[in-house]
Amino acid sequence: MKAVSSKPMSQPKQHEIDDLEHASFEDLIREMLVRVGEDPSREGLLDTPRRVVKSMEYLTHGYAQHPADVLNGALFTVDYDEMVIVKDIEMFSLCEHHMLPFFGKVHIAYIPNGKVIGLSKLPRLVEVFARRLQVQERLTTQLADAIQETIQPQGVGVVIEARHLCMMMRGVEKQHSAAITSAMLGVFRQSETRNEFLSLLRQKAPDGF
Ligand code: ZN
Repeated sequence: MKAVSSKPMSQPKQHEIDDLEHASFEDLIREMLVRVGEDPSREGLLDTPRRVVKSMEYLTHGYAQHPADVLNGALFTVDYDEMVIVKDIEMFSLCEHHMLPFFGKVHIAYIPNGKVIGLSKLPRLVEVFARRLQVQERLTTQLADAIQETIQPQGVGVVIEARHLCMMMRGVEKQHSAAITSAMLGVFRQSETRNEFLSLLRQKAPDGF
């Protein structure tokens, strides 16, 4: 026979706090639906607050990640001092001014100084910083700085080409909806290295890619 519980008042558990936060986040989305002129109780919208909260959590999961989570354990010592370049990494982010998507391609290059990063980790590093509210310029420099701090290469270059829905959808400055940003550190500040990087970016992928 079980004793009647006489537990003292316990602290709320983490999942109970999470549930409460979810519920109030969903309330905010319901409120938003009303503000834009919708009826949140109509069938098509009944589940929308829950879906929007889930999707916002996914689109901003970078806040819970640190570059070290992704990069540590994937650093290798090498005797190689030519340029390492990873092109066309897909990137999706949300602009911090309108919370609308901007998306495009990230190109990363560096010249090692004894250490390299596992190639598959660079797309994951992009995720850490892209899955937050961002501006394209800061995303670019954060990626360059993270690589610089982690492996202290001779230099690093990051170029991002992106299109911004806040420009395209709102019908303003459509001609500025595509933006290119770059961050160059170390030897990439020298025109010879920077030009080599930029000309490699212009090259088409070899056949079969
Ligand atoms: Zn914007």
